Amino acid sequence: MNPLTPVHVATLPPARFREVLDPPQWEILDSANRHAREILGDRRIWSLNSTASGGGVAEMLQSLVAYARGAGVDARWSVIDGEPDFFVLTKRIHHKLHGSPGDGGPLGPAEREVYERVTRANAERLALELRDGDVVLLHDPQTAGMLPVLKDHDVHLIWRSHIGIDEPNEHVREVWDFLLPYVNDARAFIFTRREYCPPQLLDRDLTIIPPSIDVFAQKNQSMTTEQVVSILATAGILDAEAVVPPSYLHHDGREDLVARRAEMDEDEPLTLEDRLVVQVSRWDPLKDPVGVMQGFAEHVAPYVADARLVLAGPSPAGVTDDPEGAVVLEEVRAARLALEPDVRRRVHLACLPMDDRAENAAIVNAIQRRASIVVQKSLAEGFGLTVAEAMWKDRPVVASGVGGIQDQIVDGESGVLLEDPTDLAAYGSAVTALLADPATMEAMGDAARERVRAEFLGSRHLIQYLGLFQRLTEGDGFGTGG
Ligand code: UDP
Repeated sequence: MNPLTPVHVATLPPARFREVLDPPQWEILDSANRHAREILGDRRIWSLNSTASGGGVAEMLQSLVAYARGAGVDARWSVIDGEPDFFVLTKRIHHKLHGSPGDGGPLGPAEREVYERVTRANAERLALELRDGDVVLLHDPQTAGMLPVLKDHDVHLIWRSHIGIDEPNEHVREVWDFLLPYVNDARAFIFTRREYCPPQLLDRDLTIIPPSIDVFAQKNQSMTTEQVVSILATAGILDAEAVVPPSYLHHDGREDLVARRAEMDEDEPLTLEDRLVVQVSRWDPLKDPVGVMQGFAEHVAPYVADARLVLAGPSPAGVTDDPEGAVVLEEVRAARLALEPDVRRRVHLACLPMDDRAENAAIVNAIQRRASIVVQKSLAEGFGLTVAEAMWKDRPVVASGVGGIQDQIVDGESGVLLEDPTDLAAYGSAVTALLADPATMEAMGDAARERVRAEFLGSRHLIQYLGLFQRLTEGDGFGTGG
């Protein structure tokens, strides 16, 4: 184990936001940027999580840390390391925090021993680098065990949980029993929704910060229809001619080309005539990929002749903190093979290359843009970045009314919320009804984009962070050297 790997992050100018914000929104951001350095001085802002790529937290860190650096803040990001046992355990914790039993394993003394050993090693490594007055932002359960080791340092410890469910059950309570002895040592807490905060922490320093998307990143940057087709054709996802280069832009303006191919499970290729119903997700039972497929097979395919389902996710070899991904993918493959041949030929699985994060993001972007409808039929969802990503691309989204998805979609206006995520008929008929009504699809897509502009851009997120850091560090006597 090699505790703590720094992640290289670009430095990006926050002025880019001017292109996408309304003038009053831009004014607020601009003023925050001008004061950020004054407020934080030469303190370092450390973010710690468990993976540099794959999953929502990594997505956000990549951009928020970069814009903070662009505002002159010394923001840094490191990834903790652990042995395989540790990641099996933290995956269990992740599932339980979402209210499901996960692998059914315990959270007992043996698990504490693994958890504390790994998090201690990472915290001791971090402690070597800390300066008085620094702000340390620890993300998710993987990092909570670092808090007791760091609490005696003169730093501001914030613990942020990105996950939770609206109505906690015994699995959630079991996880909090496990985690509370560690997280208690944080000075401040951030949750995505108030409902995710356990009762024991409600009277602590609590800030609610929903996630956001980076609209300039490869994942969300604008693309012409020709680019979309070309990227999907090059990646082997669409049978079409690439009439322009399959290009996307890096943050520094450098152009790059998609070159790697997705691994497809399909009977026949997708063509330009097909209308795509798409879900992009990690291979995780909580995203219910098998339910998405069954609902499509039973309630969409028989009624809409040109509809095809695409389930896209990372090639499991590329995501180290998700040992379960490969197992779930095999289950999805088996479920697909069990479909009637007539339906099976309209169901496509795409495992996207993960070797190059930017290339992967560009492919996800193109898939979302090519979709007629984006689905996110999660059984539980902390926030659901894929929803905001699709909404920004003015796609109509049909998604479960769970967790943070409820905060994103205004039902019937900027998308469709499914009351019961296990009701396959309701999901299928929502998709079928939309596909039959292009005018509503278009209006919903437009409203979706405006909703994201108003609520879910990185600018809002940065302003909330700065406000919290200002409040915590005010008057501590450190960090004024810069
Ligand atoms: N994602 C990706 N490549 C994939 C599958 C997913 O980049 O092959 C991204 C997706 O676009 C989104 C993130 O991973 O940005 C998933 O975040 P979300 O909040 O939807 O779910 P999580 O994985 O955190 O549960």
